[in-house]
Amino acid sequence: MILSMQHKVHTTFAGRLILIGFGSIGQGVLPLILRHIGGLTPERITIVTPDEAGQAEAQAYGIRVLQHALTQDSFRQILQPLVSSGDFVLNLSVDVSSIALIGFCWERGALYLDTCIEPWPGGYTDPTLSPSKRSNYALREAALALRMLDGKDHATAPTAVLTHGANPGLVQHFVKQALLNLATDMDISLAVPQSRTEWAALAQRLGVKVMHIAERDTQTPSIPKRVGEFVNTWSVDGFVSEGCQPAELGWGSHERHFPVDGRRHDFGSDCAIYLMQPGAATRVRTWTPKAGHFHGFLITHGESMSMADFYTVKQGEQVVYRPTVHYAYHPSDSAVLSVHEFAGRNWRLQDSKRILMDEILPEGIDELGVLLAGHGRNAYWFGSQLSIDEARRLAPHNSATSLQVTVACLSGMIWAIENPKRGLVEPDEMDFARNLEICLPYLGPVVGAYTDWNPLHERGQLFAEDLDQDDPWQFKNVRVL
Ligand code: NAD
Repeated sequence: MILSMQHKVHTTFAGRLILIGFGSIGQGVLPLILRHIGGLTPERITIVTPDEAGQAEAQAYGIRVLQHALTQDSFRQILQPLVSSGDFVLNLSVDVSSIALIGFCWERGALYLDTCIEPWPGGYTDPTLSPSKRSNYALREAALALRMLDGKDHATAPTAVLTHGANPGLVQHFVKQALLNLATDMDISLAVPQSRTEWAALAQRLGVKVMHIAERDTQTPSIPKRVGEFVNTWSVDGFVSEGCQPAELGWGSHERHFPVDGRRHDFGSDCAIYLMQPGAATRVRTWTPKAGHFHGFLITHGESMSMADFYTVKQGEQVVYRPTVHYAYHPSDSAVLSVHEFAGRNWRLQDSKRILMDEILPEGIDELGVLLAGHGRNAYWFGSQLSIDEARRLAPHNSATSLQVTVACLSGMIWAIENPKRGLVEPDEMDFARNLEICLPYLGPVVGAYTDWNPLHERGQLFAEDLDQDDPWQFKNVRVL
């Protein structure tokens, strides 16, 4: 396959790349890596994946595929010959522990990036674990503990980028740009914040109460979802796993109605809470510019914790400011039907799964952004409105959904190569401007839009509801009960 010469090479890399997992995201990111990272020739790339998916693509690029399923017992033996100092491990698999891989990469001196903190199989749904222990909060706390692995400070270990896809990942960079845009529009002049403390102070100063990751995917397949089939525009396994975890949200300092089914964790930073029900059974109200207002699923995601933590302002031990942060996801209509059927089967997965790619009709977009709300201008959405048509024009092996993920994966890799000794890093801690610079050409229209919508809009007309009329942006009003 001939790669066009017109693409900007952002950096060069002299090591080897080991790509673990080659599903929708792995297949979509490969052409971007070959375009934009110089020196990474196909013979220095190895894919490790257990199944046949993507073999034709790998073959067309001349890239070696080793067909293995990594397990807790086998992963060292399989990866040892493939990974040494100066290499890069890109983990785009399901069911392979991110924490185990990061420890291994540090032993070998290799860079690392994933798009989600994966546990070993069953970690999300193990009935012997409490909901708290099955949460992304717990996974994040365990990952952050790596910073002091074996009692040693790993602040300058080879860079390991945690959770850098679209969300988590790209959306954390959108939040920073959105905060700066808001400040400009409110006539607040300031220097671009340089530290966590300064970013959190800016969010507090602007009065942002709520940060939604607000996404509406309108991509449609030419072949409708069949009965007994789970259809999605990215990993079915990934979506099903996170959808079965408890719903989780960063718990803001303005909240005054703790949910009856809400629980706090008894360890870690306490930046987030969870609900005693799966995210795929929890709906919230949100807004995006093209879709308007809609109900999305409050699926747990790493950014709900990392953003809530990042934007916390404390006086001593006292939290004086923190936004409420959560995902509000309306996946493709086929995926909504799939979730409905899945829930009706008591969360027992359908017999067949389909990730949409070539059969997506040439219409529909993935509108993915952040809604910052509760401030003086009410609510501001900032994000990408990438259509399937444009995604197909921009890069092979991608849909609108996957391209938003894969380009962020690329920008995270480039940032890691440029900053190779930063230890464990979350997207919030990276250079947002550098990442956005790399991502923007692949995101379609990237827009900011204000709305006067709030979660009390047109409520209470048909049924009497127990709402907080004094503050529209209370989670109690946002949640669909
Ligand atoms: P997918 O289901 O299409 O592919 C998963 C891949 O992992 C497959 O190639 C599968 O064979 C491989 N795999 C499964 N078990 C393995 C094992 N034991 N060893 C090695 N490989 C194994 O998933 P996807 O859509 O490509 O997503 C990949 C990852 O990215 C998932 O963890 C998903 O949650 C995450 N993701 C993150 C974002 C984001 O925005 N942050 C978005 C989409 C996906």
